[in-house]
Amino acid sequence: MALNALKTSKIPRSDAVYFGLRRAIIEQALMPGDKMTEDVIGDRFGVSRTIVRTALARLHAEGLVDLQPNKGAAIAQPSLSEAHDIFEARMCLERQVLTRLAAKVTDRDIALLEKHIALERKASPADGPASIRLAGEFHILLADLSGNTVLARFVDEVVSRCSLILALYGRPHSSDCSLTEHEQIIEALRQRDGAGAVASMDHHLHAVTERALLSSTADRHRDIRSILDHYAK
Ligand SMILES: [Zn+2]
Repeated sequence: MALNALKTSKIPRSDAVYFGLRRAIIEQALMPGDKMTEDVIGDRFGVSRTIVRTALARLHAEGLVDLQPNKGAAIAQPSLSEAHDIFEARMCLERQVLTRLAAKVTDRDIALLEKHIALERKASPADGPASIRLAGEFHILLADLSGNTVLARFVDEVVSRCSLILALYGRPHSSDCSLTEHEQIIEALRQRDGAGAVASMDHHLHAVTERALLSSTADRHRDIRSILDHYAK
């Protein structure tokens, strides 16, 4: 980050658009297939089309947005086969996260995870978008605590893409993460039980995959302008 940006605590405007859109995708406010017109995004976030294009290119690199010549940008629609590939990759990454974390977990880490679970418990099921985001952030927190920043970056990416898959193939506005299953993972970590922690994560992700890929959602009316207003704040 540039020194000026640090001094003023301001994030670059393309970052603000990127994080706003990303959060709208993760919270399933923006749905797979939604068209992302540069003019509409620029208007809602109060930025130029160049800035919008920078943010969209970054989301495209992360597999969250499709960019097609002459067709513009749209929220990505992973195929069922891609969805299985993403869940398989996620399983490998998160197994490694738990193996690493169980070997080094501290009481402070456990306290942080418990604090996060308390937020999930509070949000669910009253606030759909927040509970979807918090469920994903639980997995990202585990990856951060593992201490491997590369692993954490990949987990962040697959968890975000799983949100798209859940939006496409799962129940409407559901994270499909079970709080009880998250608690089982923490319990195994508390016992410093590496094999148990990996087994709990395996069980959890198999269950999430099954719940996610069971049904598909019906088409719904999408008012992109009003959705973006909430995330441009
Ligand atoms: Zn979960």
